[in-house]
Amino acid sequence: MVTTTAIKPIKVQKSTSLRIKELDYNNITFGKLFSDHMFYADFKNGQWGDAQILPYGPIPMSPATSALHYGQAIFEGMKAYKNDKGEVFLFRPLDNHKRINISAERMAMATITQDIFMSGLTELVNLDRDWVPDTDGSSLYIRPFIIGTDEFIGVKPSENYRFYIITSPAGKYYNEPVKVLVETNYIRAVEGGVGYVKASGNYGRSLFPAKLAQQRGYHQIIWTDARNHRYLEESGTMNLFVVIDDVLITPPLGDTILAGITRDSVVTLARDWKMKVQERKVSIDEVLDAHKNGTLEDAFGTGTAATIAQISQIGFEGKDYFLPPVEGRIFSNRVAKELDNIRKGKVADVHNWMYKIG
Ligand SMILES: *Cc1c(COP(=O)(O)O)cnc(C)c1O
Repeated sequence: MVTTTAIKPIKVQKSTSLRIKELDYNNITFGKLFSDHMFYADFKNGQWGDAQILPYGPIPMSPATSALHYGQAIFEGMKAYKNDKGEVFLFRPLDNHKRINISAERMAMATITQDIFMSGLTELVNLDRDWVPDTDGSSLYIRPFIIGTDEFIGVKPSENYRFYIITSPAGKYYNEPVKVLVETNYIRAVEGGVGYVKASGNYGRSLFPAKLAQQRGYHQIIWTDARNHRYLEESGTMNLFVVIDDVLITPPLGDTILAGITRDSVVTLARDWKMKVQERKVSIDEVLDAHKNGTLEDAFGTGTAATIAQISQIGFEGKDYFLPPVEGRIFSNRVAKELDNIRKGKVADVHNWMYKIG
């Protein structure tokens, strides 16, 4: 569904009881406290309109709302950063806009216009800019999402949609090295499925296998291909990378891999640094062989929440394999630092990834 709507000015209703005082910048619990305002726009009669910013709060809805029953619900995750001068930037927001529309397309939902996505985002974050923390490693997490809003429980694509944006301050992500379990029973994604889009149901289905892994002492699952459970796909809800013999390897994009913006940024920086990069299938056998002969140098997940999550231990078929100490990892430490520096404006933004607000 392609929509073209010229944006009308966003209606703004400011909160009269600001909660920003509740924010303790040194003690932020991720995802629990939301900023003072939220944004939404409605898709009705084939058009987006009624864009508004209003005080953050509950959303009244019919129990028959279609998203609640058949899962026409998609989302994005992105962050705003504040530099030393108090300027606020988004990281690659146009890529999130493109991606939410790929998700919308696959879920037979209305796509969102770039002007509504970007003006909603920039006006909301600008209004709540005091909520963007500036302490080391902190940011404002931004959650745009679209849900089907028909009050109808027949199975068909909704005709009405609502696009929301809410935001939540995020403190320094505690980058504890992760222990992962290679999953050979449950699957996250399959060819022809929806693994490549940010559909809510992808997360719902992953929680039970993740809980089982956690009960066994692992933090996260490494998903394998649905057919043979041999090829590694993603690490929890992050893209997966390994470094074997100085070559950076990550599974290729396709139906079963989410095209992470952090993934793309890591690949881009590695190529800038003249590192050898391969986007190709990588099997558990190859990784364990490399482990055995001492060429498995690094393994990590990438995503907006943690940026880089280094893997310390891989569990497979009842055995655990330990990776080199994280302090000594050359690539993952370097790329994590570089991304941090780009986002905080400490190094040149040669790829034009930062988008200034206000
Ligand atoms: C969101 C997501 C990622 C990471 O994407 P980023 O754009 O880097 O945040 C990776 N895998 C899955 C399954 C995801 O949903």
